[in-house]
Order: sequence, then structure tokens, then C-alpha cells
Amino acid sequence: MSSIYTSMDFKFLYCVCFVSLLQSCNGIDRKNNNSGSYEMTKEWSPIKNLKIGSPAGIGIDSKENIFIFHRASRTWPLIGAMPSDFIKERTIIVLNKNGKLLNSWGENLFIMPHGLTIDDEDNVWVSDVGLHQVFKFSKDGKLLMSLGIAKVAGSDSLHFNRPTDIAIAKDGSIYVSDGYGNSRIVKFSAAGKYLLEWGKKGNDIGEFDIPHSITLDWVGNVYVADRENKRIEVFNNKGKFLREIKNNAFGNICAIYYNKLSKQLIAVDDEVSWFGLKHNGSNIIIINADGSIASQFGKEDFKAMHLKGWFHDVCVDKTGNIYVGDILENKVWKFRKKE
Ligand code: ZN
Repeated sequence: MSSIYTSMDFKFLYCVCFVSLLQSCNGIDRKNNNSGSYEMTKEWSPIKNLKIGSPAGIGIDSKENIFIFHRASRTWPLIGAMPSDFIKERTIIVLNKNGKLLNSWGENLFIMPHGLTIDDEDNVWVSDVGLHQVFKFSKDGKLLMSLGIAKVAGSDSLHFNRPTDIAIAKDGSIYVSDGYGNSRIVKFSAAGKYLLEWGKKGNDIGEFDIPHSITLDWVGNVYVADRENKRIEVFNNKGKFLREIKNNAFGNICAIYYNKLSKQLIAVDDEVSWFGLKHNGSNIIIINADGSIASQFGKEDFKAMHLKGWFHDVCVDKTGNIYVGDILENKVWKFRKKE
């Protein structure tokens, strides 16, 4: 079953409540064309002789170049331990917004690539759930900082347990969603000094069941994709809970990206059944500042393109075009905003 081969990204014992996306919610009628002002381009990673495997992380720099953090030939083990050896191929791919290959690096550095974030100075931040670490690189791949201890899981100020994603504030503060093993957000200073943390496993206010993605808005509030709880939680920069964004139209929220220009949150979800074993496709959800859904589209709207993937990360360029890493189809998709 090709649909499950990367799938330790689910919970065996979670009884998945299937919520029909045909359901009308917040004024969104799924019978209408919900792609709204977006059209899907064909597969957008037209790089010859460069095979992408599970593009888990995706980000965009100030020049609108797209960074892809992928697993190359590595697959997530369905059973048993994580691999311990490094991926030999180049795991970071840099494209311009027309899809032209600009650079690639990241060979022999990572075990299981996951999240990727580009900060305001175009540094590249990645998390590796196999190494239990977070790394800061220059845009060309020079290592500038590492957090966590390689191959040692833990829950104190020095360790992570399968960290999923990173967000960087204007003052350089570092937020890490941690992750699959722990259920917390950890904040560090710009220099990497541990400052504070919040969250524990659960579904109550301020709790998480796989905090899978993290992003910041223009005032520095922290948005966390609480994946298995099918919601987004919002906190201030000290970890104080502010509100949750929840909607019956949400599947498991896998990734979120705050679009500073439109002041909207761009989310991607994953609809699963059979106790999380079967993936039924993904949607892009554009969320207004008040938490209402502006637009939702994807698997229902682009059926003609046989889109049955699993959108794992998302970013947006200045025009509003949306780029998605699909870890089932092993492709990057571009949804172009119409004029
Ligand atoms: Zn994941």
C-alpha cells in the first residue's frame, strides 16, 4: 500500500472521527468551486535527474527562492527504530520561483528531515526527527548553530524528542515545536539559550497531541498546528494561551504558514481513516485573522489531476502563490493565484 509507507506520521490508537469535508462550515459550501482565485499548476518540481523523496519541509526566502527539505531515498520506518545512518544524497534543494534549480546541499547531515523555516535574514532552519536536533544554516549550507543532542531524546532544556518545526521571531528568538515525542513548545534566545517552554500532551487548552508546525504573526504571537487535535492554538510570546482556531472542516492540521502581507494563515491538512492508516488526501485552508475560513480547496477541486497526496508543509510567496510539499506523491505542488 503506497499510501502508508511513510506513515509513522499517525497514531495507531487514535480513533479517527471522519468529518466530511462536504459539510458546510463558516459559509464554505464544498459543492461550490472552493479553489476560488487559485489554480493548480502541474507538478512544480520539474527538475530533471533530481529525485525528490518525501519533501517534508518547504520555505521561502526574501528573494522568493524556494527551499525544499526532503528525505531523498530515506523512508519513515513503519515499524521498528529510526535509521541511524545519514542520508547520503543532498537533502536541501533550492529553486527559484520559476522552478529553476539554484543550489543543493545537505548530504551526509541528516537522518530524518522534517521541518524547514527561513528566517528574515535568509538563514535556513531545519529539524531532524531522527537526530532529535534543530539546526541553523546559512543559505549556502554553512552550519551556524545546533540545538539538541544528536541521537539522544529527552525532555529537558538540552534535549528534544523528535522536534517537528521551528519559527524565528523578529528579535531572533527561536521557537521549536517538540514534537512527536514531547508535546511542548520550547523558546530559546537568538543565541540559543533556553528561555521557557509550555504545553503537555492532551486535548485541553494549551495542550498538544503532536504539535507538528509552528509560525508567528506580525506581532509575534505563536501559532501551533496541533495536528491530532485538528486545531490551531495561538499563544503570546511568553506562552500564554490566547485562543484556538477550530472548525469542523479541518482534517489533521499538518502545517501552517503566516502570510504577513494578507494577514492570513495558510494551513494544510490531511484526512485519514482506518485509525490513521489510510490517507484520503489534503486540502489547503486559508484562514482569516478572525479564525473564519476564507477559502478551502485541494483534493475535491483538483481531482482531475489525481491529487491524493499528503500535504506536509506549506509556504507562500509575495504574490500569494502557494507551494506545498507532498510526502505521498513525493512532489512539490504550486497553486498559482489568479490575476
Ligand atoms: Zn510529520
